[in-house]
Amino acid sequence: MRLLPLFFDLSNRDCLVVGSGKTATRYANELLNAGACVTRMATASIPDVQSECKVLTREFNSEDSRLFWVVVAANEDANKNKEITSECHLNNTFCVNISEPAQSSCHFPVHNDQFPPTRSNSTKGVVSLVGAGPGDPELLTLRALRLIQSADVIVYDRLVNPTILDLRRADTKLLYAGKEKSEHSMPQQSINELLVSLADEYQNVVRLKGGDPFIFGRGGEELETLAHSQVTFQVVPGITAASGCASFAGIPLTHRDHAQSCVFLTGHLKNGEINLNWQGLTDTTQTIVIYMGLTGLRKICEKLIENGRSPMTPAALIERGTTLSQRIHTGSISTLADIVEGRAVRAPTLLIIGQSISNKLMHTDNLIHFKSVVR
Ligand code: SAH
Repeated sequence: MRLLPLFFDLSNRDCLVVGSGKTATRYANELLNAGACVTRMATASIPDVQSECKVLTREFNSEDSRLFWVVVAANEDANKNKEITSECHLNNTFCVNISEPAQSSCHFPVHNDQFPPTRSNSTKGVVSLVGAGPGDPELLTLRALRLIQSADVIVYDRLVNPTILDLRRADTKLLYAGKEKSEHSMPQQSINELLVSLADEYQNVVRLKGGDPFIFGRGGEELETLAHSQVTFQVVPGITAASGCASFAGIPLTHRDHAQSCVFLTGHLKNGEINLNWQGLTDTTQTIVIYMGLTGLRKICEKLIENGRSPMTPAALIERGTTLSQRIHTGSISTLADIVEGRAVRAPTLLIIGQSISNKLMHTDNLIHFKSVVR
């Protein structure tokens, strides 16, 4: 089935939900959240009908399919849903059939009503700090996608894949707050303040960050400023580069027999030095994942060897992991820096060190995403 993601402006448009069960209620909630005028129809009374809905206690008839923009056939009886769907198809009305999704002419996600949309408790908007994952748009969470699509403004980082930004509505404002390694296009303090001022202006502000906002993402600092300024916020976790890159490279970060723990570190250089607890990194059963480690790659490997790690310890550098241009460079901590030197490696890259990077464990021949390996 080929589907086109479409955004419908349903505000004040008539939509119909047929059925009295919980699923029907969820669909009606979504339509109400989109601003639609929702009619609920059932032959018996509807236990949890929303006060905003008009109620019709009768069977659906063919005339109904001409009156509504979207119809949701949410009866328990699949045959009734089938009839409704056929009528809608005849009259060019979009229809969701909950019993037979393949018969539906449109689909939209319904959210668990345990988690209603976040609303601000003041006149200010809500800021959602959203993890965009490591690159592949399909690694977004459903909540991230929903928030991106309901955002009035999105403040995004350099690492956010542009394809993910394309998932927004056409009227959503985009603001770039990315940081290049050497050139900080917007200082962190200005980003923090920008988020506060955007919450004064817009209802739904999305701060979109590569990976997970709380892993080397400075999410904590942004939240501190928001909390201080009484702005309501939420944090949506994303797949961090370590999980995304390791999965797409077939490297198990932990393994019952080879790696009982895993540590995430930053290899960022400060005054040409990397400040890590090198003596704490000698455990051969621990996988080491180093973010921002490309410039310091040689130094990191040398330091590990100096501090007792075997020069043969396997290492992989994953370049632009989970994207179409992903490349995986493998070697050992004594060879990797030389191996990648002539390969015009481009950021972002993630360094993974440990026993789980062995051909025996990586099973790469059968791995769909492991196409662009450079050994
Ligand atoms: N919050 C992010 C990390 C931000 S720090 C997260 O959770 O993933 C930026 C570093 O993340 C980069 O220097 C790189 O080391 C790593 N990184 C992010 N995306 C990556 C990708 N697609 N491939 C390889 N490394 C990536």
